[in-house]
Amino acid sequence: MANVIENLKKNGFTVTEFDAKEAAADYLVDSIHGKTVGMGGSATLGALDIYDRLKADNTVYWHAKEPGADTCIHEINAQVFLTSANAISEEGYILNIDGQGNRLAASTMKKERVIFVVGQNKLSGPFPEALERARNIAGPLNAKRLNKKTPCAVDGVCHDCHSPDRICNALLVLWGKTMWADSMEVVLIHEDLGF
Ligand code: SF4
Repeated sequence: MANVIENLKKNGFTVTEFDAKEAAADYLVDSIHGKTVGMGGSATLGALDIYDRLKADNTVYWHAKEPGADTCIHEINAQVFLTSANAISEEGYILNIDGQGNRLAASTMKKERVIFVVGQNKLSGPFPEALERARNIAGPLNAKRLNKKTPCAVDGVCHDCHSPDRICNALLVLWGKTMWADSMEVVLIHEDLGF
């Protein structure tokens, strides 16, 4: 784990560590005030239960609460964007796979803060292993969670399907902090969270 954290920092990402999701949730709520905030689709963010707490002092857009493309466009244009990651490689690369690409666009559009809230289970080995995790572990588990009609939701294995419900149409690998983000931060929680 020490290597991954060191490499994330070398790649320009800030890393903040917490032992438990409750402490991470408090940190996020305490450090975001008076902003427009977008939230990507994420079981991890759901587990932190911060949507209502952030709404008390920010304008928050999350398509999990208000479905639709308009909400996703607000997420993309928000000052702060919160999401998780499907995997983080040993080299400190952050990987996310998306069906529509809205989460990927929001991660790279101009932002004051992009924050990846990540459980320790998302830390992988070298890049090929991280890609394997994103494709063959996170993809099927998320398809099942979202009740998608895909073969992986049935047997837990990626079939590189062409289903209309396919959730894997775009991949973003962040090799480093992008210039349009004032900061990109990994909030690493030493618990297993999300898929
Ligand atoms: S490509 Fe299809 S089968 Fe593979 S993980 Fe994505 S949705 Fe599932």
